[in-house]
Amino acid sequence: MNSNVFSLADGAVQSGCVIALALICLAQYGIHMYRMLLAERQKESFRRELAGLTTELDETIRERELSDMEIHILREFVSQTELERSLDLLLKRYVPSPQNGFGAFLLWDAGSHQVARSRGLSNESLSRLQISEPILNQIYDDGVVTISGYELVEHPVPTNLTAADRGKVKELFLIAIAEGERRVGVMIATSLFPSDAPFEQQASLVQRLMQTVAHNIQRAQDLVLHQNQLRQTTEMLALRSITDQQYDTPLTMISRYLEYLCENIQAHRAVLFLFTQESNAMCKALVRAGRSLKTGTEQRWQEFENQLAELTGERSETLRLNQAELHQNQIDRLINSAMLIPLIQDDRVIGTICFTSDESRLFDENHERLACWAAEHLTGTIHRVLNQAVVQRQAREDGLTELANRRAFDLRMRKELDLARENDSQLALLMFDLDRFKSINDTYGHQAGDFVLKRTAQILREKVGHLRAGDRALLARYGGEEMAVALPDFNLPGGLRIAELLRDAIEREPFEYQGQRIHVTASVGLAIYPNQAVEMEDLVEAADAALYEAKTTGRNKVVCAAPVDAMTVQPSRR
Ligand code: GH3
Ligand code: MG
Ligand code: MG
Repeated sequence: MNSNVFSLADGAVQSGCVIALALICLAQYGIHMYRMLLAERQKESFRRELAGLTTELDETIRERELSDMEIHILREFVSQTELERSLDLLLKRYVPSPQNGFGAFLLWDAGSHQVARSRGLSNESLSRLQISEPILNQIYDDGVVTISGYELVEHPVPTNLTAADRGKVKELFLIAIAEGERRVGVMIATSLFPSDAPFEQQASLVQRLMQTVAHNIQRAQDLVLHQNQLRQTTEMLALRSITDQQYDTPLTMISRYLEYLCENIQAHRAVLFLFTQESNAMCKALVRAGRSLKTGTEQRWQEFENQLAELTGERSETLRLNQAELHQNQIDRLINSAMLIPLIQDDRVIGTICFTSDESRLFDENHERLACWAAEHLTGTIHRVLNQAVVQRQAREDGLTELANRRAFDLRMRKELDLARENDSQLALLMFDLDRFKSINDTYGHQAGDFVLKRTAQILREKVGHLRAGDRALLARYGGEEMAVALPDFNLPGGLRIAELLRDAIEREPFEYQGQRIHVTASVGLAIYPNQAVEMEDLVEAADAALYEAKTTGRNKVVCAAPVDAMTVQPSRR
């Protein structure tokens, strides 16, 4: 019994051990499988991480390449001293082959976007290349506008181009060039750069490049602007100093003013026209200045200038005309560009300055700006100078007879005597005194006396004006009813002949005042430089003495001064 119990117990122990062993094995297998799973998961995550790192590395390498390229392009761009050259270099990058693509820079200049540089575009396409305001707004808003697919046949930018240039377009990119809010320009290109990079990278590269471009264009434009401003200030100061100087006549000043303008505006000719009060179609060329013209062309050129001035008429705005516009106005190839600047005073166009050139280049904004300022300044100056001229004339002239007064006569006489001394020539001095003038006043009244004085002055002026070298003669009201006539280059016989001619003209003149006829005669004293005297005071004294002798010996006669052969010419009686 005991042995059975023991064998039963042994069996139980044995099978228990087996089960336990099996359980242990199972558990170990489970653990092993779990570890395997964990390791596989880790491997997978490592693999993913590695792939990510590889992509990142690729991107970094590409970015590095791109940024090297960007640095290289920028260095190339900024190292150029001329903006045009920098833009050309950039265009070469974006348009490696002008046969297969094109590019252009349109820069904002004086109110519109103008093609500054281009590559691969025909002249005809360039002339048609325009970007409307809504498209510009879109470009400046988006930075880069892509035109592709069906848009290419509808969009005004590509459709405006010639068929040959349109054929080069697979995609068209319009890129903004701006600095902050300031619109500097637009770049057009058929492809972006580098060609194998994704669009985002191309777009961000081109936008970064355009920032530098915008900055440089801005700087170049500012520099030109400052240079122009400086030049214009200098020119304005020079023009001001011309008008501030003293001149013999206002016309001399205007002439010098226009000459200066001509030179600085690079015009061939400049003319100041003044319109008449009645009609602006009636204009008068006051001063013509500039390069002299060949005989033959001069008259035609001047006729064209007159035609241009009439064209301005009542227009109060500046007019710039190119070759075609001039030809439309029947102005032939002699003049190829013109600019007309109105002179405005109290809201009325009083005249115009007409600039002309035989070169076909159009006068530019800077020329116009300077010319407008000059016209405004001249308008004010003309007014001032003319008033000044009136005052100066009044100081030189006798108000009643409009002959020179005694002071002006003395000054000019001294100059003429100096000249006669230098040239070893003669001068005849004639002193006129109306006979019994007091009785004219007494008989007909003071007004009638004034009328006689005025008319006598007119007769002297007319007769002397007709003489040979009469323009050099000096006429003056020397005293109350005493007038003087100095005749340079006249000797004794010449002086006597003229004195007699004038005396005779006064005697023959039917002085009619308020229906009454006044008989007027004059006595004349004549003295010759250097025959009777060499100093001015002595010459006047000699002529006065001769006049006195004429008075005391019967009046209405010419007497030549002593001491040299005193001659008396009796009036020829009618
Ligand atoms: P004689 O033949 O000797 O010259 O006689 P006369 O009367 O002309 O001489 P006198 O010198 O005595 O008179 C000149 C007169 O001229 C005196 C003056 O009243 C007059 N007279 C001077 N200036 C003017 C003027 O501006 N207008 C007028 N109406 N008379 C003037
Ligand atoms: Mg008298
Ligand atoms: Mg007198």
